[in-house]
Amino acid sequence: MRFVDFHVHTSASDGSFSPGEVVDRAAKAKLTAIGITDHDTMAGISGAVIAGRKYNIEIIPGIEFSTHLKYEEIHILGYYCRPDNVPLIKTINRLKSDRHERMEKMVDKINKLGLRVTFDEVLAEVKGKAIGRPHLARVLCKKGYCKDLGEAFARYIGFNAPAYVKRKEFTPVEAIEIIRGAGGVPVLAHPGTYGKVDFLSYLVEAGLMGIEVFHPRNSIQVSRRYFRYALKCGLLITGGSDYHGDKNGHGTRLGDVKIDLSFLKRLKQRSRALKKHGGRF
Ligand code: AMP
Ligand code: ZN
Ligand code: FE
Ligand code: FE
Repeated sequence: MRFVDFHVHTSASDGSFSPGEVVDRAAKAKLTAIGITDHDTMAGISGAVIAGRKYNIEIIPGIEFSTHLKYEEIHILGYYCRPDNVPLIKTINRLKSDRHERMEKMVDKINKLGLRVTFDEVLAEVKGKAIGRPHLARVLCKKGYCKDLGEAFARYIGFNAPAYVKRKEFTPVEAIEIIRGAGGVPVLAHPGTYGKVDFLSYLVEAGLMGIEVFHPRNSIQVSRRYFRYALKCGLLITGGSDYHGDKNGHGTRLGDVKIDLSFLKRLKQRSRALKKHGGRF
């Protein structure tokens, strides 16, 4: 059997390991292909592609956008976007500076709570392009304010915790349009992590093409429900571990969630058809 893990983070965003180190681990996990899906950046892909050649591991170029719809944070994965697409590049640049500003505000809030953290200390944790809450969480742990990332999120920086700052408005429909405009395939990430998923048909109408049916935080019931939904509506099915590095993120190891190579073949077919029809198909 040949397996694919469609959802992996590197140090280009908030993963602990460089793209090369992630690919070394993919080889150990005997994966045939991995999706590099860093938050709001595609900067990790070229390094992974180079490392992938060493082991004959295929790299699926991806990105994971954090968006907001009403009170929900919804993540949209985009596969096979053209990296030279100007609106995509502009969006990535805007999100990068938004992340920067937001982190300044979060560090301010942390200090107002009486914890001594500087923006430079957080920056020192960032190896790649996208600064995020896990970087701040690592500083909080290093300075002894929290025992682990989970505690940092629960007490300080998780959704609605005292030092949480919302990202600037970016809707899932905008993300879908940007991905489609760049010739990419938009996929709804980890549906098991949202409250009420009453927005699916709205996103499908907007151009959503797939669902991450398999994910560490999708229960078996959730996976079953979305597997059926995807088949019924002709949507693509993906699955992955959302690996961020050991003891980081969802606490999964690379390849903990993996699916058969045939799902990648289907995704590539749709991606090719989409590009042929200029994103309108
Ligand atoms: P941000 O992109 O700055 O909004 O941060 C979101 C990222 O934080 C997620 O993609 C996860 O990697 C991480 N994260 C979210 N919640 C937790 C948690 N409870 N424990 C550890 N990491 C988390
Ligand atoms: Zn993350
Ligand atoms: Fe996510
Ligand atoms: Fe992710």
